[in-house]
Amino acid sequence: MRNKWYIAGLHFECSGCGRCCMGPGEGYVWITKPEIEMMAKHLSMDADQFRGKYCRRIGNRTSLIEQPKTLDCIFLQNRACPVYPVRPNQCRTWPFWNSNLEHPDYWNMAGQTCPGINRGRLYTFEEIEMLRTQKKWWSDDDLE
Ligand code: SF4
Ligand code: SF4
Repeated sequence: MRNKWYIAGLHFECSGCGRCCMGPGEGYVWITKPEIEMMAKHLSMDADQFRGKYCRRIGNRTSLIEQPKTLDCIFLQNRACPVYPVRPNQCRTWPFWNSNLEHPDYWNMAGQTCPGINRGRLYTFEEIEMLRTQKKWWSDDDLE
């Protein structure tokens, strides 16, 4: 059974520093077909153009590419994200990822790079579990 060490909830409030979207290490922002379609639409592009310009295939999955020198996410500009309203599920669910929630040490380690961790608003256990297990943030109506 999963360790429920965060049963009393966890504090998190994004300061907008942009560090989770930055290098210097290589990272992956995994995206699904509906997310590609929504981001493409948001940028007034078609999905194939979006794939060609912003995506790479890794195995059988697709990730956003990175800016070549900094390894920041290709979309990060002046700490802002131009696809923010339709940003991928992976971006929406940070920092409530399985990898950070396995153990309090991992959570606190993530807090060393993300200044929003352990600060601000209290997320309840139920809210955390909803975000941890979320695979899809959109409704099918958003794709019409
Ligand atoms: S690193 Fe944390 S505080 Fe900074 S933008 Fe990302 S989520 Fe927000
Ligand atoms: S898509 Fe936007 S929120 Fe997600 S990593 Fe890239 S810049 Fe950050």
